[in-house]
Amino acid sequence: PKEIYQILDEKPSVNEYQLKHWIWIAQYYMCTLGEVMRSALPTALLLESETLILLNKNIEVDELALNDNEFLVYEALQHQTALKIGEISGILDKKNVLPLINGLVQKKVVLQKEEIYEQYKPKLVKYIKLGKEFEDEAKLEELLVNLSRAPKQSQVVLSLFQLQATTKKPIPTSELENESGCSRAVIKALTDKSILEEYLIRKDRVEFNGIIGESRKIILNAYQEEALSKINANFKEKRPTLLHGVTSSGKTEVYIKLLEQCLLNGKQALYLLPEIALTSQLINRLQSYFGHKVSVYHSKYSIHERLEVWNNVLESNEKSQIIIGARSAIFLPFSNLGLIVVDEEHENSFKQFDPNPRYHARDASLVLASYHSANCILGSATPSIESMENVKNGKYGYANIQYRYGDVLMPEIQLVDIKEATRKKRMKGHFSETLFNEMAETLEKEEQIILFQNRRGFAPVVECTTCGNVTQCPNCDVSLTYHQGRNQLRCHYCGYHMALQQACLSCGSNTLDKKGFGTEQIQEELKQLFPQANVGRMDLDTTRGKYAYEKIITAFEQQEMDILVGTQMVTKGLDFRNVSLVGIMNADSLLNFPDYRAHERSFQLLTQVAGRAGRTKKRGKVLIQTYNPYHQILQQVTTNDYDKMFAEQYYEREQFKYPPIVRIIKLTLKDKDYNKLNEAAQWFASSLRNVLGYQILGPEYPPVSRIRREYLKNILIKFPKTQSPVQTKNSIKRIEKSFNAISKYKSVRLVYNVDHI
Ligand code: ADP
Ligand code: ZN
Ligand code: ZN
Repeated sequence: PKEIYQILDEKPSVNEYQLKHWIWIAQYYMCTLGEVMRSALPTALLLESETLILLNKNIEVDELALNDNEFLVYEALQHQTALKIGEISGILDKKNVLPLINGLVQKKVVLQKEEIYEQYKPKLVKYIKLGKEFEDEAKLEELLVNLSRAPKQSQVVLSLFQLQATTKKPIPTSELENESGCSRAVIKALTDKSILEEYLIRKDRVEFNGIIGESRKIILNAYQEEALSKINANFKEKRPTLLHGVTSSGKTEVYIKLLEQCLLNGKQALYLLPEIALTSQLINRLQSYFGHKVSVYHSKYSIHERLEVWNNVLESNEKSQIIIGARSAIFLPFSNLGLIVVDEEHENSFKQFDPNPRYHARDASLVLASYHSANCILGSATPSIESMENVKNGKYGYANIQYRYGDVLMPEIQLVDIKEATRKKRMKGHFSETLFNEMAETLEKEEQIILFQNRRGFAPVVECTTCGNVTQCPNCDVSLTYHQGRNQLRCHYCGYHMALQQACLSCGSNTLDKKGFGTEQIQEELKQLFPQANVGRMDLDTTRGKYAYEKIITAFEQQEMDILVGTQMVTKGLDFRNVSLVGIMNADSLLNFPDYRAHERSFQLLTQVAGRAGRTKKRGKVLIQTYNPYHQILQQVTTNDYDKMFAEQYYEREQFKYPPIVRIIKLTLKDKDYNKLNEAAQWFASSLRNVLGYQILGPEYPPVSRIRREYLKNILIKFPKTQSPVQTKNSIKRIEKSFNAISKYKSVRLVYNVDHI
């Protein structure tokens, strides 16, 4: 017999529900179980077994001079919580990457296993109390007499007695040290004699410090009440339900009622939100009802904080009764789940793009809910076409709220034709006179403005007017974006950056022209147009730090800013009281995006951003600048006509065979060798055609056909809903097997994106 060397855990860190769910994810999304685990387990749990590096989230990388390879690793780490040494070799196509890693460690860009481990150890705090026998006062007096020749020791005993007097509980040793003014050595002498007893207590890093709710009673209005009872009727039949309520209709209050019911039944609840809608505004709101029963699971939290939430859920303790989280919260070790709320269910950020598993958190939630026999509510002001389709075919129940809470009117939406404004010379920079005047009036009334522009940076293209050369990223097939603040050109795909050159890199003339505009340029223009206004900006560039995003929101909330310019980040779930005007700088870039969902997405985005206007008594106003005011989607946004949008989009999907009419799998092939990739993609596509005989589109280059020095080619596999997805995937996997047997294609990487959106 062998001796037990060490017991790692008393309880498994993963439960059976999770394993079953993860196996489903691996099969459905065509990846390995290992890949699911990588995404699912908190990094702190993975550290035991592998050589990993991890991004140091406390460092501002722009200030450091990183070389190209270092930058590639840095960018890869933005997408993946941690990387193995072998994976870094793969990314860089290089055998010996250790010198590079050491460089990154020295620059403190990444942390290594040992450093992380040091931080990950649970925080232990020393507590101290009087030995049990001295709880008896007579014994205590006797002790003090005995200690009369050790005045410092008796001082400590007396202090402790007083500190413990009210609570009778152990107190932190540090407190005793401060109070008695005695050294550690004196205390140690007493613990050695067992007069005092000292303990180590695990201290949670994530503590709720707010005021626990005045447990404000929510009184739902008639519309909310009706929605709630419809939802409950559907829940009785175990049917997931879509809550379709216009912006500011009070969907959150309905969720709160559902959460309350769930807790009353003694079950855990999961509240899922897209990452950027996961703001302290919402967290505070939920905490004011449920206090410390709410925990947050967020990628911006440190790995220790995440581990702590994991363990709380595993223990199923009080703190884990309600978990609010972004998509990865579906992986937590729930054992007793009663409700899943998927708020903003239409958001495409619920789908993980990179790396595997490329899962959709909403869809995976429905499966998870079914394993637990839990209820599931999906909510949105602009439901996705596929969810509405599931309502129509009876898979989901439906409840809707058509009016804003408190008789607040829907905002007035007006389209502004910039083609005409330009012709009539009624533009100030990128602002039409209409928008400019409306802004001036709003500022006059001391109300606030949100401006939405889909691009960040100053200008997305720098072009030479002499030779037509556009400055491109050396690693990717995209133009570099000019960022004025740093006077740099940057790639938004791989993070490559360089100083702006004076002369054209191709012909040498100094005729460089900046084309297009991003948030940074809008902010600059505003300084000229409204010099007295305070302008803030919210985009990826201004929100990198852990609390940066919160700071901007708070400042805007407290009206330290008059105008907030931003990308998609300003469109989600924010509730500002004093915003009466929303301006959309240019709707066309959204509408013209080359994707079958571009119109649906434009409708959602514009409706959501418009919904930030006028959330209190006064009616808000929204101005949408466009070159194409007769576009059907803009008309539908203006009249808030979801049904028409749905009908038209659905018809188009039927015509051109796109989801939800058919299922879709996007296969991307990647290789550094252009010719090899083309050949391999051809081989794969024709094999698919031979074996499956469904609609196989491609191979085709995606709009950005080279990223991080790899060429990409897509094959789109469409198959009817009547066809078994399991069989189809098995057939594809068999083709993959034959593909992998061809040695010349060994370097080609295959990426499946099931239900690609
Ligand atoms: P949605 O999530 O549908 O956009 P919210 O839940 O944010 O809407 O509600 C909009 C505003 O109305 C919030 O400020 C919220 O506090 C308020 N509100 C909604 N329902 C109620 C209610 N029943 N009682 C009090 N205030 C409510
Ligand atoms: Zn040139
Ligand atoms: Zn690039």
